[in-house]
Amino acid sequence: MAHEHVKGDLHLESATGRVSLQILATLVGGMLLLCAVTAKFLYDNSFYEDTLGAIAAVLLGAPLIWVAVKDLINGHMHMNELVALAVLAAFAKGMYLEAGAIAFFMILSVLVENRTALGAQASIESLIKITPTRAHRLSEGDQETEVDAAQLQPGDVVRVRPGDNIPADGRVIRGTSSVNQANITGESLPADKAEGDDVFSGTINLTGAMDLEVTKAGQDTTLGRVKDLILQAERTRTPIMRMIDRYAAWYTPTVLMIVLIIFVFTFKADKEGAFERAIAMLVVACPCALILATPTAMVAALSSAARLGVLIKSVTDLESARNLSAIIFDKTGTLTTGNLEVTKLTPMPGVDGAELLRVAAAAEQNSKHPVARAVTKVARKARLHLAEPSAFEEVSGRGVTATVDGTRVAVGKANWLTEDGLGPEIVAAINNAQNSPEADGLSLLFVVRDDVLLGWIALADNTRPQAGDAMVRLRELGLKRLFIVTGDRESVARRVAEQMHTEYRSEVLPHEKLEIVDELKAKGHHVAVVGDGVNDAPALAAGDIGIAMGAAGSDVAIHSATIALMNNNLDRIPFLVDLSRRTSRVINQNLVIGGGFIVSFLALSALGWVTAIVAAVLHLVSGLVVVFNSARLVRAGEHIELAESAELEKLKNLKGAVPSSGIPRPALAPAG
Ligand code: AMP
Repeated sequence: MAHEHVKGDLHLESATGRVSLQILATLVGGMLLLCAVTAKFLYDNSFYEDTLGAIAAVLLGAPLIWVAVKDLINGHMHMNELVALAVLAAFAKGMYLEAGAIAFFMILSVLVENRTALGAQASIESLIKITPTRAHRLSEGDQETEVDAAQLQPGDVVRVRPGDNIPADGRVIRGTSSVNQANITGESLPADKAEGDDVFSGTINLTGAMDLEVTKAGQDTTLGRVKDLILQAERTRTPIMRMIDRYAAWYTPTVLMIVLIIFVFTFKADKEGAFERAIAMLVVACPCALILATPTAMVAALSSAARLGVLIKSVTDLESARNLSAIIFDKTGTLTTGNLEVTKLTPMPGVDGAELLRVAAAAEQNSKHPVARAVTKVARKARLHLAEPSAFEEVSGRGVTATVDGTRVAVGKANWLTEDGLGPEIVAAINNAQNSPEADGLSLLFVVRDDVLLGWIALADNTRPQAGDAMVRLRELGLKRLFIVTGDRESVARRVAEQMHTEYRSEVLPHEKLEIVDELKAKGHHVAVVGDGVNDAPALAAGDIGIAMGAAGSDVAIHSATIALMNNNLDRIPFLVDLSRRTSRVINQNLVIGGGFIVSFLALSALGWVTAIVAAVLHLVSGLVVVFNSARLVRAGEHIELAESAELEKLKNLKGAVPSSGIPRPALAPAG
């Protein structure tokens, strides 16, 4: 990966260098051409016109002809041959000024192409070219030395002060601050960081000083991966691009045939005119605008998506997002924050509440599931001593079993535990708890020790603030089927689905998520799966598009998804669908502009209504129209950025206010 990245950079730099040299040659050639035009029109001096014109034509035309000859030797028939032939024909006919002018405008349009391709790429690069160069490393005894960021190794401790760029991915070990992570996540709202939180290379430390332990440095950082992904995406090709590649080989010979036929038919009547017609036709037939149609739009769209923290790994996915008709959302951590909170402990009669929590937390210590984290967090807060479990086993989507203090403990959801041959009175107690009104809408974990029910723990999760709006927007975009799929129980799924006005499936086991995706696909739907990319990687892979949320800092999530969302803002999903549709509209417009230009001006040139020089100018104009049309996409998503910075301003004014989130949370009420 690192290798590829270096190659990409070198390519860019050498291309930039070559472009600049060409600009110089074109300028000199252009000046001579101007002198030739002046000689012709102001002084009517054909000697100067021809001499200066011929030198300009050689200077400007030689590189074009050289490229065309090289292409031919390598067995490629490309558009270069058409122009090279036009320049040669004009030169041979003694139309030096025309030869120079055709070459001049041709080079200008090639420069426009290169500049915009490089420009768009450079704009993406600049987004992520914030890789910090220096770092303040702490050695034993808090001695601070300034080092190259490239020298940092995992395990090093660095100090960052307000205004510093964070030099590597790391974890806060001392201090608190807020960090502007927009470079990575596309969110302008700064993130608060305290001890134990992760920070990313290339983000900007705003308010406090912090000491960080480096976890990843250099190319391994999230910033490095983001950069790789964007460069990689640009190298992918869509079906329409591949189609153009395939027909390109036929294009030049076909055009040459048409030009030859017209030339032969007109030659008898008007010898001079036949040459000019043929030359003009060769120039307008050059399909620059068509070739630019798709890549310029794609690159512009990729860069505006990246600005909002939406990393699209392949242009094919950007293309196909416009056809989505169904989206499957994972509930926990996707539509909800995933920061579950224990809201109620209900021990069975004769069991102590603290004991229930202690046993559950001891068994859950080694699980990374959000429910497990919530339970152990509360137990640690209550300063309960958690015994080290043995024989720990996690059953995905169901619960955990472990040996704690020599007893068999199982913690998990109701129908998993009741499958296990528990006594009828325990099953009845579990069912009672499930149906009790006080547990409605809460996730429940049951704790069983040596076949005895100790009690249950209720947990609540908050929906993400933008989830409801994102669903409304998706429905407006015509996405008919929005599903919430969760392993959680029915009443929890129903509560969230009612808020979002979506369909839902509850108590779904991990492999069943795949079946739901396949079912929808079989009905002809184009399906996206949205998840955290870690617990649901297979489902993400099964969708036509897999979108991982909150992927910043998670290699697994970035890998498992086709589109990695570096933040948790659900509004990016309707944005993506909209962007994909706009991109496709722009590409179609470009293809019509490019194709229409060729067909209409080929006809007009054949009729002898377009001179060679006018043809060269028109050719440049058509390329520019396509480039500017694509550039409109760079502004996509501006409304989201504006809304986010307005919100940021509001927050600044209301110092200390916290953004409100979805459902009000019941108070923690340990029951006895
Ligand atoms: P999931 O499909 O991962 O959302 O899990 C569905 C349900 O299985 C959760 O709501 C829990 O009730 C249960 N579950 C999954 N993993 C665990 C775990 N580590 N500990 C306890 N319960 C779990």
